[in-house]
Amino acid sequence: MKFLQCFCVVDSSLRILWVGGDWDDFALRNGGSSVLANDILATRLTDHITDAATAGTVEQMVAAVIDTQGSLRMDYRCDGPEELRRFRLTIKPMKDARVIMVHELRDAIRLTPPMEAWTFDPAARDEKCSVCGMVHAPGGSWTDPTLPGVQHPVLVRYTVCPSCVTRIGAAVAGILDGAEAGDVGELNLMPGCNPS
Ligand SMILES: [Zn+2]
Repeated sequence: MKFLQCFCVVDSSLRILWVGGDWDDFALRNGGSSVLANDILATRLTDHITDAATAGTVEQMVAAVIDTQGSLRMDYRCDGPEELRRFRLTIKPMKDARVIMVHELRDAIRLTPPMEAWTFDPAARDEKCSVCGMVHAPGGSWTDPTLPGVQHPVLVRYTVCPSCVTRIGAAVAGILDGAEAGDVGELNLMPGCNPS
């Protein structure tokens, strides 16, 4: 497995000040040509997130790290149709109300057969959690689309599923309460995870 790490520094308004590591490599592999490093500097991180739930989650986490000067560490999934990928995001405080977000690839598993390729559609009926990658049809339960017998919906809109909302809320509450480091929950912020 190729080691992959990306960095992103943002200020308190989520303006992107610096990106580094394998950012472009990852974006290109995942069809995220619109989020190459040179194009996103000085834009807001939330401009590249397609849904309000995920954007709000990111804002909440960054604000908590700036307020407390504590760190948040969260595991998340950023699957492609042919690969299950586990990432870890660490958000650490920096000087002058800035934070660094570090994404590390922890594990990649080839999917045979691959999942159905999916497309983002803001009007889609089915939802996909941008944190854990689970999918959900109206009235159905949240399901891991990499499990045998589960079909990935072709059109999805992104959101944060209830269990990820709970985990992230607990991690944020943890550092706001003065815990050493929030270490619960998962979050998806990689370029290309939420193609728009
Ligand atoms: Zn989730």
